[in-house]
Amino acid sequence: MRILVVEDEALLREGISDLLRGDGHAIEAVGDGVTAAERGQAEPFDLVLLDLMLPRMDGIEVCRRLRLARPGLPILMLTARGDEDDKVRGLAEGADDYVTKPFSAKELLARVRALGRRAAGAPAAAELLEMDGCQLDLGRLVARREGAEVTLTAREAGILRWLHRHRERVVARAELLEQVWGASASMQTRTVDMTIANLRKKIERDPGHPRLIVSVKGLGYAWGEREG
Ligand code: CA
Repeated sequence: MRILVVEDEALLREGISDLLRGDGHAIEAVGDGVTAAERGQAEPFDLVLLDLMLPRMDGIEVCRRLRLARPGLPILMLTARGDEDDKVRGLAEGADDYVTKPFSAKELLARVRALGRRAAGAPAAAELLEMDGCQLDLGRLVARREGAEVTLTAREAGILRWLHRHRERVVARAELLEQVWGASASMQTRTVDMTIANLRKKIERDPGHPRLIVSVKGLGYAWGEREG
């Protein structure tokens, strides 16, 4: 498997990486949360080993972002003994399993193998959406219209996924910022508008009259055409 190892303690990171390489896996190891979220969204890893206490962005937030960008990606958390709250939060954000530090080499390998087997046995559910003649394959980050194919970014797929999941209501800009960017209120909601304007050029038949992502004046955005 291709495994992303996220751990800020250099010795532990090296130790885990060597152990997993010895078990036949290809390893990329990073030491902070921001890099972890970037690499995990950019590369098709088969599994992520994620420490929770990390510099720059904590593991819970990394987990949330990876889960949104790549719903089928198996995530194994590394938690410190006694951090029950973190464990619960991690599992709530979509981590698949956890190993408590300190762990033995044997235990870690067993968990990685078990999670890998489970993931391999359960093919990722295809995330296919279709609207107004545009086919969206969110798992593969591709949009097709009349034979033309464009690539979506993980963030664009995250926006589409969130709007579709909540298609019965209007989604506010601040909610998109929080859920898709993981950003605090200090970020400008204009960022959302600019990203959506760009996304519309990729997926809408006529970006000036959008039918997939519609604007709801004064409220935000919604999936598909609204009634009334
Ligand atoms: Ca740590």
